[in-house]
Amino acid sequence: MTETAPLDLRNRAADALRACGTDVPFGDDVPAMSPIDGTVLYTLRASSPDEVTAAIESARHAFSQWRAVPAPVRGALVRRLGELLTEHKRSLADLVTIEAGKIPSEALGEVQEMIDVCEFAVGISRQLYGRTMPSERPGHRLMETWHPLGVVGVISAFNFPVAVWAWNAAIAFVCGDPVVWKPSELTPLTALACDALVRRAAAETGAPDGLHSVLIGSGPVGEQLVDDPRVALVSATGSVRMGREVGPRVAARFGRCLLELGGNNAAVVAPSADLDLTVRGVVFAAAGTAGQRCTTLRRLIVHSSIVETVVDRVADAYRQLRVGDPFEDGVLVGPLIRERSWAAMTSALDHARAAGGTVVCGGERVDRDGVYASPALVRMPEQAAVVREETFAPILYVLSYDTLDEAIALHNDVPQGLASAIFTLDQREAERFLAADGSDCGIANVNIGTSGAEIGGAFGGEKDTGGGRESGSDSWKAYMRRATNTVNYSDQLPLAQGVHFE
Ligand code: NAD
Repeated sequence: MTETAPLDLRNRAADALRACGTDVPFGDDVPAMSPIDGTVLYTLRASSPDEVTAAIESARHAFSQWRAVPAPVRGALVRRLGELLTEHKRSLADLVTIEAGKIPSEALGEVQEMIDVCEFAVGISRQLYGRTMPSERPGHRLMETWHPLGVVGVISAFNFPVAVWAWNAAIAFVCGDPVVWKPSELTPLTALACDALVRRAAAETGAPDGLHSVLIGSGPVGEQLVDDPRVALVSATGSVRMGREVGPRVAARFGRCLLELGGNNAAVVAPSADLDLTVRGVVFAAAGTAGQRCTTLRRLIVHSSIVETVVDRVADAYRQLRVGDPFEDGVLVGPLIRERSWAAMTSALDHARAAGGTVVCGGERVDRDGVYASPALVRMPEQAAVVREETFAPILYVLSYDTLDEAIALHNDVPQGLASAIFTLDQREAERFLAADGSDCGIANVNIGTSGAEIGGAFGGEKDTGGGRESGSDSWKAYMRRATNTVNYSDQLPLAQGVHFE
């Protein structure tokens, strides 16, 4: 690691930060490094324990005002935030590329996801519906009301440095909740730029101070959020290891937890699959973002009658992928985030070989500054232990099957349960995969890959993936508390279930 970044990268980051009106807390604790060449752009000061406490206290104070603002009026803040994100789309995408290493098209897509979820949240602000149920008692009304929950602590991962925050923040704001955000220590600049835009949107729309803040630092800073009883909901995105630490701690204080953890996503390729479409879907899902998406395709389960063809075609496509500086034209695979990702990748490939696997192509280090690896395609004789783990790097393991039951059993036989897909033109197979005895994942697709979800659906997964749901559909319910109300408008006092007490 060298101490200073080349001027063009640093200038580009400085321009983007300036455009967003970002106040950068320079210091000696947290290096803001670009994986593009492994250089440090700036070093930041970590939030102190007192600052964490103060941020939570300000959020709690903001909550007492914000919860009383009508939800459609709260929507005005999110509408303005969406406008500012649109205005600064290019700058934010530049920061995503600089800090997370995504190619510009994917970085712009990530910012678009923030804009989309703001739009969705504004709509939701007028649809925080409760139900009215028929009461069993005459002259009574039975209904439920959704109220703001309290301070939401958001802990996010490096690989979606802004979209995951926006899924949480946009919905939390319209639900009446303040947000204290601890982004990944690997992507602090992008987070600070978003914070500047939220503060501006809040000031312009009259939202209370303290409604949003960012904490800089690593696990211990997050732990303070996790343990603080004033944080009503901890929404944590990251590895299963992190979730295993966070979940029980929040549960011990009866806080609410929303966990979005690792995946080990698979696609089944059936004999009837449209192979042109399949290969394109597989390559984007497996090699896009250099294999560093929670929804990255990691296992390909192919019918034995077509497995050789599919492997040849995916390998051909893999050999044409350009790996390199994401800002360079034509590059589709950027860097791995840190050196340890390469160590994890080589270790997984060694384990795969030891379990009888064959590396068909890729898995090589590209000789340049930063950590660049060619995506690896690996034939496996069976679903060995290494295949059942999430290695956060571009490795696609190929397994074969003979019956759909066998494919589904292999598919579900991993600890994680995030995203899944089947490529088939056979409606019976497609429906079976989506049925109760099909894929056990939170996301199950037909004829598209495992990654690249839209914001309109609820996002999340089962088993070790943590069970949380974020973003679209009725995910907003996690950010509110439900009150059941019974109103007696009669002059009698009948008790439920016919009970007499007189
Ligand atoms: P990570 O678990 O190392 O870190 C995630 C966040 O948790 C960071 O902000 C980190 O500082 C914080 N953290 C770590 N230990 C903590 C603790 N004890 N208490 C509180 N906070 C703590 O993950 P990463 O390497 O940044 O991201 C990659 C992982 O995230 C992969 O496993 C990926 O699948 C997963 N991920 C999941 C989703 C999803 O929606 N399911 C989305 C993105 C990433």
